[in-house]
Amino acid sequence: MLRPPCSTRRTALAACALLLSASFPASELQAQTGTKALVGGTLIDGFGAPPLRNSVIVIEGARIVDVGQVGAVAIPADAEVISTEGMSVLPGLWDMHVHLMIAGHTDYTHWDSVYPPLFESVIMPAAARQLLSAGVTSARDLGAPLEASIAVRDAIERGEIPGPTLYVSGPFIQHEPYPGTELFRWGVSGANDARAKVRRLAEAGVDVIKLIDQDQMTMEEVQAVVDEAHRHGLPVVAHSHRPEEIRRGLLAGVDNFEHTGLATAPEYPADVIEMIRARTAQMNLGPLYWTPTIEVLFNYEYIRDSWRELLDAPCWKEGLPDHVIEDIRTSLEHFDQLPYFQITPNRRPTLKRKFEQLREAGVVMLIGTDSGIPGTFHCQSTWNELDIWVNRLGVDPVEAIRSATYWPSLMMGVADEVGTISPGKYADIIAVRGDVTRYISLLQDVDLVIKRGVRYK
Ligand SMILES: [Zn+2]
Repeated sequence: MLRPPCSTRRTALAACALLLSASFPASELQAQTGTKALVGGTLIDGFGAPPLRNSVIVIEGARIVDVGQVGAVAIPADAEVISTEGMSVLPGLWDMHVHLMIAGHTDYTHWDSVYPPLFESVIMPAAARQLLSAGVTSARDLGAPLEASIAVRDAIERGEIPGPTLYVSGPFIQHEPYPGTELFRWGVSGANDARAKVRRLAEAGVDVIKLIDQDQMTMEEVQAVVDEAHRHGLPVVAHSHRPEEIRRGLLAGVDNFEHTGLATAPEYPADVIEMIRARTAQMNLGPLYWTPTIEVLFNYEYIRDSWRELLDAPCWKEGLPDHVIEDIRTSLEHFDQLPYFQITPNRRPTLKRKFEQLREAGVVMLIGTDSGIPGTFHCQSTWNELDIWVNRLGVDPVEAIRSATYWPSLMMGVADEVGTISPGKYADIIAVRGDVTRYISLLQDVDLVIKRGVRYK
């Protein structure tokens, strides 16, 4: 049995925070309440407008109070001036599909049997910290035990542990949990049970409902999940691996689909695309969102052939005890033989076509990664997704950044608070040396991370 360095829940989180915040000293974070001015950098504000040179952003406490160009914006006399000369300055990134409870280990059966006692106290806080260091100031966690999801989200919100602002689903809702996964997968049996399970999640305070394998449920069950979620003001996110998952999800009114599925099929069937077009034509329903989580499908062979070198980067170890690091490292031996990625090389040639079909059908694409799945790490996934969009799928860099900032905040209903750099919003801001509109992969090593006015990096 493992001995968690940060043991049982709740009381342990604060103690754990001390352990985890070596690079984020609490005294320093608390001292940062004054006025700051970020001066000189090129601002990409998240709305999609052309970058603004020689920008000034004035922050008071947790909020942005003024944005403009040098000379046009008054810098308060008492402001701490942070030079962003030569840097790209942009809203903190969102990752709309992370899994804090996993950390790149390749054996789910082993992970799910050994590590649940460490999820809340060690694994999820470490993942959160790694995301924040990578410039991810908001993240949507799609599938983890309920109490742990809420506890970690709230501990971050209270400033007890460092991490992105989290939006959590708690357990997946599906037809039947796979054996050994009942902690974070809830099966539903009939429409009444579906409503009851969603109500339990809503009353516990989740931010979103995650639906999967909806093609194995009855249509009444799927509809009950979506209706009950919407009744509580919660959006529904659903898998789209199979055509029938998409059809049922669309019929029921799912708000956001995840993944670019359909295995090795060359494209989405015509009737599915027709249904998507019919949905996106209904302006009153708002955008239909899609999180393709595509980077690992493009990067699989690179990870397979270079994982030893990739593991030399220290960021994925942050906050994890040595025995967990060693376990993950060992699990990556024979990455080439993992059934999980068996058909990935065959899927890749189909991805560009599927991505384009979705965009042509009018969906709004969101940056999300599935970070934590085998061979992927929370500190590396988000920039890789942006890189693939821009360099392999031909998305304009400013548009890709918009899909990692403005659109996610709108999707989660918080665009008035966060997601763009404009007066009144929370100061969630990152900066990196160089021009990200020219070299998006510069985002792999951000120089400055500010979340709610507090500088973490
Ligand atoms: Zn996932």
